[in-house]
Amino acid sequence: MSSPSPLDSQSALVIRPPDTAPALIQLEGITKVYGTGDLEVRALDGVNLQIHAGEYCSIMGASGSGKSTMMNVIGCLDRPTAGQYYLDSEDVAQLSDRALAHIRNRKIGFVFQQFHLLPQISALDNVMLPMVYANVPLADRRERAATALERVGLGNRIQNKPSQLSGGQQQRVAIARAIVNHPVLLLADEPTGALDTQTTQEILGIFSDLNQQGMTVVMVTHEPEVARSTQRVVWFRDGRVIHAQLDPADLHEATF
Ligand code: ADP
Ligand code: MG
Repeated sequence: MSSPSPLDSQSALVIRPPDTAPALIQLEGITKVYGTGDLEVRALDGVNLQIHAGEYCSIMGASGSGKSTMMNVIGCLDRPTAGQYYLDSEDVAQLSDRALAHIRNRKIGFVFQQFHLLPQISALDNVMLPMVYANVPLADRRERAATALERVGLGNRIQNKPSQLSGGQQQRVAIARAIVNHPVLLLADEPTGALDTQTTQEILGIFSDLNQQGMTVVMVTHEPEVARSTQRVVWFRDGRVIHAQLDPADLHEATF
């Protein structure tokens, strides 16, 4: 019987396969219960999931299956009822509300179906807002906001108010606002749900570019066509992950 050569055991110490690197998002037994008694809703029911830095993944599943609740937990907008959440190896459950808000402002960007822009102020002012909460020096805010708007192709519309912009342009402003603090993680909940096919493709192009520049992107969608632009599909049913690692190319065969 031969023993392993010293060289082999040494290289095993040096070479670290990618799947053993700590995940950016690590969820263990995440449960979220709304209400009590007869009105109790188990929106998430023991979710285990890992998403690594640099991934571009979509979350699918029927309406009411827990996708938005999941995004709110991942984005530190909401705390789970039970389970462990490690974001960038940090145990989120241990953090105070203040520390959680700090992480949310600096590490996470959000995009929603209905844009959620403030209607009274310009695109530029909308994009400057998150920098107020992150204490970015006043002198830097304007230039950083303008740069973020250029990055999404809206450099020439920065003084327009949301009502003067199309839906697709408003979503671009929302993306600029989401990335202006250079988050590690971009979360998008049905970001193309209110957009036509052409505009949807433009928005997906922006997400792909951001991902190629190193940002981790997690997007909820119910459209297979949209999910096919991502690298991996996670499928929810009744508050549980029933497929953690679907190939988007296989979606047309899937009957979940
Ligand atoms: P999805 O985004 O997949 O449509 P949600 O995460 O919004 O699903 O909802 C999951 C379940 O939790 C649904 O039954 C929904 O009605 C319920 N739910 C979501 N938010 C709340 C809330 N704030 N209060 C009570 N029930 C909620
Ligand atoms: Mg939802």
